[in-house]
Amino acid sequence: MKIPEEPFYIALNLPSDVLRLTAGEPDFPSAPFVLEAASRAVFDLKTHYTAPAGIKPLREGIARKLREENNLSYEPGEIIVTPGSSGAVGISLLAMIDPGEEVLLPDPAWFHYATLVELAGGVPKRVRLDAKDGFTLHGLRIEEAASEKSRAMILNSPSNPMGRVFSRDELEEVAGAAERLSLTVLSDEIYEKIVYPPHTHTSIASLSGMRDRTIVVNGFSKGYALMGWRVGYAAAPEEMCRKLDPLLGYTLVCASSVSQYAALEAIQNPKSKEYAKMMLDSWTRRKDIVMRHVNENSQVVSAMLPEGTFYAWVDVSGSGMDGKSAARLALEKAKVGVMPGNLFGEAGRNHVRISFATSDEIVEEGMKRFCQVLNGAKNEGVRTPITLSD
Ligand code: PMP
Repeated sequence: MKIPEEPFYIALNLPSDVLRLTAGEPDFPSAPFVLEAASRAVFDLKTHYTAPAGIKPLREGIARKLREENNLSYEPGEIIVTPGSSGAVGISLLAMIDPGEEVLLPDPAWFHYATLVELAGGVPKRVRLDAKDGFTLHGLRIEEAASEKSRAMILNSPSNPMGRVFSRDELEEVAGAAERLSLTVLSDEIYEKIVYPPHTHTSIASLSGMRDRTIVVNGFSKGYALMGWRVGYAAAPEEMCRKLDPLLGYTLVCASSVSQYAALEAIQNPKSKEYAKMMLDSWTRRKDIVMRHVNENSQVVSAMLPEGTFYAWVDVSGSGMDGKSAARLALEKAKVGVMPGNLFGEAGRNHVRISFATSDEIVEEGMKRFCQVLNGAKNEGVRTPITLSD
């Protein structure tokens, strides 16, 4: 199997003189109170392996958080702490499917999912979302994409790259389809704290009948700015956890012990709420900067107002180019990095993903240059595909 390398090059490896609108992580450091707790853990020599499922106080803290914030009831024994939520996605897929079975996932969706499904021996089956109806999730589309080999579905709300927060009605549709098709739902809720009013986050596991067929995945990278610490988790019924626990033990062993103490502080300390609000206020401001440029350049770009996350999902077809060509041209001509939409699925062909998790100045200047390049291309009649080097 060929593992796509391009996303990591674009996301993490661009030259330093490029204005990067590519970041998939908060641009804020971890909070000082978390750093203090982590250094205490270091000097208390919390440097040994932990049980695969993680330290008990952290699992208890996560259970409390799920109850208070998400209306979900899990025992600490139904929670597995993992190295990042990516670790939880990976082992959940290994646990959920046998070789040859299908996993339904939205098109577009975070590029890791399809590759991880294939690594688990499964077959990704896309459920296309349509710009024409605002990327709405329909139960019918899920049922049309499914076959008797379909075992699971990946749901990601708030969603990367679309910035959608699926409504309760849409979640009910997914739940209905999952029930009719006997699917397990992997619900990746990593962006739950990055939601713009009036939208609100609902965990699909809190819907009637869904707890038993859902694995809730979440973590500390986005809402608590603990990206490099690598702590995430899966919450699932006990039977599923009995599969996840040894899978984690054999593959990744456990999340970093020191990082688990950092996460424990983050989830317990009430100051985390203020920290999350401070970040959300900044991203709200930057979202507005992006949308101002989009609205002022409607001849070349269009986008839905992001409902959550720090991404805008921008259609560039008005410029005459597809997303890949627009991203290349912006990089080469204007030194602005954006993620080509095709990396997220066929439905992203005409899109780019713009991350506004960077300073106001970079968002302002980056958007200005990006739109200038597209306007220039439109005026010169550049058509996709353009012939810049690969
Ligand atoms: N899920 C989604 C949808 C993401 O965008 C990301 C990071 N970009 C992750 C999961 C992984 O986050 P982490 O492993 O740092 O928890």
